[in-house]
Amino acid sequence: MEFLRPATWAEALEAKAAMPGAAPIQGGTDMMVEINFDVHRPDALLDLNRVAELARWTTEEDGRLRVGAGVPYARLIAELGDRLPGLAQAARTVGSPQIRNRGTVGGNLGAASPAGDSHPPLLAGDAVIEVESAARGVRMIPAAEFYLGVKRSALRPDELIRAFWMSPASGPQYFSKVGTRNAMVIAVCSFAIALHPGERRVGTGIGSAAPTPRRAVAAEEFLAAELDWDARLDPEVLRRFGELASEAASPIDDVRGTAGYRRHAIGVMARRTLTWAWNEFRSGHLGRRAG
Ligand SMILES: Cc1cc2nc3c(=O)[nH]c(=O)nc-3n(C[C@H](O)[C@H](O)[C@H](O)COP(=O)(O)OP(=O)(O)OC[C@H]3O[C@@H](n4cnc5c(N)ncnc54)[C@H](O)[C@@H]3O)c2cc1C
Repeated sequence: MEFLRPATWAEALEAKAAMPGAAPIQGGTDMMVEINFDVHRPDALLDLNRVAELARWTTEEDGRLRVGAGVPYARLIAELGDRLPGLAQAARTVGSPQIRNRGTVGGNLGAASPAGDSHPPLLAGDAVIEVESAARGVRMIPAAEFYLGVKRSALRPDELIRAFWMSPASGPQYFSKVGTRNAMVIAVCSFAIALHPGERRVGTGIGSAAPTPRRAVAAEEFLAAELDWDARLDPEVLRRFGELASEAASPIDDVRGTAGYRRHAIGVMARRTLTWAWNEFRSGHLGRRAG
């Protein structure tokens, strides 16, 4: 197996164009497991660790954060936890400290597992994925259009993920994950919520309860129509939101849980996360900041 080590982004794109079968490797926390278990034997490995810009994040002119695909979870938590609280919460549940020191959102997107923990908060927070190829340049793909099937994404064979873009939170954000134990666990299912008070809108993301991570679109539309932002949370609105979130899932039975359990748990987590977010919003913490 060849091992390619580009030093710059341009070199990485050229290498990927010349050898589309080369598998990118960032933290290696997914890739090395696949190679060790012989699940996947790529023609070549394209090591992105020397491409320094992938490990940087910046605030862009429009105020959005542009986070390089190679920023590990541990840094995301430490450096961006205040601005991307939902994603940071999800990051804290990934693996162990060792995995969080190496693993990245870029790698989570590259693997595109329905159980990947970064996907629900990326969906709830309207993230956009920046991908690039030497031949066609940059494509900006909204997270909601990125996931196409089980471990399949919109990324083309000659493309690499460069960064994801996300606005700093304008309201409370929460992530909830059910696992078979408290740490080092793949999600049985998960749910993320992001309040966007300026737009009187709530974003959602469902994990590990459908072939792809997905938004609970009908539940979001219901809240956009029914949520009274100046009042206490109506129990009937909360109940219906949970029901619609649960209906948005299309889970399977597998070793980690049954479809019925997952559907039920999504409804519970949707109600819980909305309650947490609403209480925080009403207590004025982020609500005032969002104006
Ligand atoms: C013990 C253990 C526990 C884990 N726990 C969790 C967990 O709780 N939650 C969770 O979500 N995941 C978990 N994982 C999986 C893994 O840690 C995550 O998916 C992580 O985000 C992968 O990031 P990475 O940088 O290590 O990716 P890598 O292993 O380097 O790559 C993963 C995939 O993405 C592709 N890729 C990487 N970078 C790019 C790029 N720039 N452009 C295009 N494709 C790219 C690779 O080719 C590969 O297909 C766990 C793994 C282990 C070993």
